[in-house]
Amino acid sequence: MPTSRLTLASEVKYLKGVGPARAELFASRGIHTVEDLLYYTPFRYEDRTRLTRIRDLIPGQSTTVLATVLTCGLTRTRRGLYIYDLAARDASGMLRCKWFNAVYLEKNKVFRQGQRVFFYGKVEQDPYGTGNLQIIQPQFEILPETEPDGSDSLEVGRVVPIYESLGKLSPRILRHLIWTALASLDGQIPDYLPASVRGRNELLDRPTALRLTHFPDKDQPLEDLSRFRTPAQVRMIFEEFFNVGAGLALKRRKAKAVPGIEFRITESVRQAIKKILPFHPTAAQKRVLKEIADDMGAPRPMNRLLQGDVGSGKTIVAIQAALLAIENGYQVALMAPTEILATQHYLYVRQLLRPLPYKLDLLISARKGSEKKELKERIAQGAVSLVVGTHALIEEDVKFAQLGLAVVDEQHRFGVMQRYKLIRKGLAPDVLVMTATPIPRTLALTLYGDLDFSVIDELPPNRTPIETRLLGESERASAFEFIREKVRRGEQAYVVYPVIDESSKLDLRPAVQMYEHLARNVFPEFRVGLLHGRLPSEEKEGVMLQFKQGEVQILVSTTVVEVGVDVPNATVMLIEHAERFGLAQLHQLRGRIGRGRGKSCCLLLAGEPRTEVADVRLRTLTETTDGFRIAEIDLKLRGPGEFFGTRQWGIPAFRIANLLRDQEILEWAKREATEFVERPQSCQEYDEFVSYLRAAWARRYGLAAVA
Ligand code: ADP
Ligand code: MG
Repeated sequence: MPTSRLTLASEVKYLKGVGPARAELFASRGIHTVEDLLYYTPFRYEDRTRLTRIRDLIPGQSTTVLATVLTCGLTRTRRGLYIYDLAARDASGMLRCKWFNAVYLEKNKVFRQGQRVFFYGKVEQDPYGTGNLQIIQPQFEILPETEPDGSDSLEVGRVVPIYESLGKLSPRILRHLIWTALASLDGQIPDYLPASVRGRNELLDRPTALRLTHFPDKDQPLEDLSRFRTPAQVRMIFEEFFNVGAGLALKRRKAKAVPGIEFRITESVRQAIKKILPFHPTAAQKRVLKEIADDMGAPRPMNRLLQGDVGSGKTIVAIQAALLAIENGYQVALMAPTEILATQHYLYVRQLLRPLPYKLDLLISARKGSEKKELKERIAQGAVSLVVGTHALIEEDVKFAQLGLAVVDEQHRFGVMQRYKLIRKGLAPDVLVMTATPIPRTLALTLYGDLDFSVIDELPPNRTPIETRLLGESERASAFEFIREKVRRGEQAYVVYPVIDESSKLDLRPAVQMYEHLARNVFPEFRVGLLHGRLPSEEKEGVMLQFKQGEVQILVSTTVVEVGVDVPNATVMLIEHAERFGLAQLHQLRGRIGRGRGKSCCLLLAGEPRTEVADVRLRTLTETTDGFRIAEIDLKLRGPGEFFGTRQWGIPAFRIANLLRDQEILEWAKREATEFVERPQSCQEYDEFVSYLRAAWARRYGLAAVA
């Protein structure tokens, strides 16, 4: 064990009070170093400055009391419950405190007569009519005898930081550990935020900001603290956004610095597009295609996000971009998040591109080993122009002869890192990322700060809006009847069943049973198909194809149909247990219908009783089909932590910043970060910051390359 002094980089186990068990607990929550611990910040604050005299206590209120211990000890009730009972008094009266099963208080001799203690908790009347007031399980802090005024107390008598408990580590323990860490560091906390940025924006230095974020001074108004707008908190939030913003700006700068392919819009490109276009593009599709083509024609690599609600027609835009690349003699990779979606894209593209002589293929892990091997060889030789695939595309052994364009569909399923892996497959291919998740623009700017933007904000013509109805269990029969009528008229239907874990047989059973029930008993006259994640790949493809061609009339499916599946003749979707789905997911699911000219109807069958939040989700869905509005409500319901979970987005989950609450700081920090990266004031400052950032990102996100 090193006796050297504690630094931010020290492992947290070297902190006084952290033994192996606590260190392990911390590690399981991603807290490895002292620095990690200091970034575990309070989520709220409690004002315990105003001390109330015992005589003035009001039952029902939470208050802080400073009192002297009179008696204390463990008692055992007749039912065998251990109660630790303590009586204390101040000059005005008497108070009891009780802890259940708190044998440790006795064993560790926590309290002694004559001690002065802060108690905090909810005051109530003693039920035994003694006239005394009591607090059950109060938080407490015993005053050290040397500091009779209690000015250094962490627990009470001040604005107290409240942390989320970490397993067994209560807010109180965390408070003490963090206090100890700050005291041991004794202000020895380097500040990496560039001095010029700090100065220009009048931000607090890091040691002060950290200290005051955890342990606010008396002069910081509780009101500001609760809004996370004290100078200390603002500095911490700014720093977090600044680092991410600078990281993305660096990536962007690097991506722009290498020479890219200059794709030319030749006559052959125009002819090829003309041959395959099945309809007139909308004005929005034309506009974004122009943005993409201009970008592809520029002498630097494209990094572009194509955003558009479900059904807005992103696929055809991507295909036109693909033609531009192929006609210029390059290969194209189209990556989709699931095998079903990759397969569907492949089938669609193959059919669409039939008039053209290109070689296309499909790379998914379900294919036979020998086939895959052979395909990879042909990709390496440049004998395939367009490869559609899943994650299999970014495996080490996939090498392209001339990758010119990488299209990544449904970005939110991939991480930023996977995107970069694909980029490395080519020298400097252009990249087009497609997403159907409509996120507010400011947020998109952070998440995709390294990308340019194109937005399709218009749906193809002749779409009749989807009607969405919320039904109860008692209306099940009429829902089935509704489907029957539609299918009789030649239309098709989805019945979707929630399955949490597609890989678990047990989870899948209700969906399979539903399928059997529908096929045998409810719709014996129709052809019913089943689609779920555990089916062998060929079977999945088979069912999808049959549904597309109208051979299967009713498709019972799990949420694997959520992304991208496109069957315009399907006009009804019945969603079972709709209360179990997330809002965004329901919106995506519903996007499978309403794709043709016919009127589409989405039936939400929801169980009772359901939570209030589930109710809001369902009602929102019946009220709007606007993906933007839905995303915003979803964000509010779930909170950004979950909405932007690290895994889903491949970007950092913020530690103190909050994307909803702190949007204006986000924009400010992002502006400053871009400015700093693009117009650095001093080389030294720039280099120092970049090497810090690189190390910090590598450590936190396990990635080698920021820039
Ligand atoms: P998404 O943006 O969800 O990926 P798709 O690209 O799958 O949407 O397109 C949705 C449907 O709309 C498809 O059936 C597609 O053929 C059709 N579509 C796309 N653009 C147009 C258009 N300009 N006119 C008519 N139909 C279109
Ligand atoms: Mg799509």
